[in-house]
Amino acid sequence: MKTLLESMAHGCARCMYCDDSRGTDIDHFQPLKLAPLRAFTWDNHLLACSFCNSNLKRDQYPVDAAGDCLLVDPTVDDPADHLYLLLRCGEYDSYSKKGEHTIRVFGLNRPDLVRGRRDAFCLACSKPRDWHNLRQAGDAEAGRLAQALFDSPFVDVVHAMHRLDPRRAEFVVGTHTLPALEHWQSVYGG
Ligand SMILES: [Zn+2]
Repeated sequence: MKTLLESMAHGCARCMYCDDSRGTDIDHFQPLKLAPLRAFTWDNHLLACSFCNSNLKRDQYPVDAAGDCLLVDPTVDDPADHLYLLLRCGEYDSYSKKGEHTIRVFGLNRPDLVRGRRDAFCLACSKPRDWHNLRQAGDAEAGRLAQALFDSPFVDVVHAMHRLDPRRAEFVVGTHTLPALEHWQSVYGG
């Protein structure tokens, strides 16, 4: 099961929650303590790093009054419907109760992740500028550079840039990065 989950994770088998560390554990999304029979349900198993799994989430599984889960479940939910990444400061904000509880339970705004996302944002501005120049020169290195960016930790930063509202893009990435971002979005966005 772990090998299969690793093959589904992005880059070097990153943790499905923090997208930073290597996924070393299998997390039971709905804890077996609450739902022992879900030990046999494939989509209740997610690849997580030991810090997210054992130090943060543990057996937490908040639910609303109707008993529905208040965590973003990556097997059925699109995180972008509940979470909003503030690219320049590296922190997540929420659109919904689910997003709010997800930030709290998984510690998504812990200092190491916030700093890592800020660094990733810096790279996610400079690499597309290089990629833009290489593409215009017809250099095959452009494809390898794009793949390296997609395989890097904090790929959520790259995905947030794909979704960046064109009206805010210049303010967020700056004038010197805007042409490269627009080119990048036309190829990889959507
Ligand atoms: Zn993690």
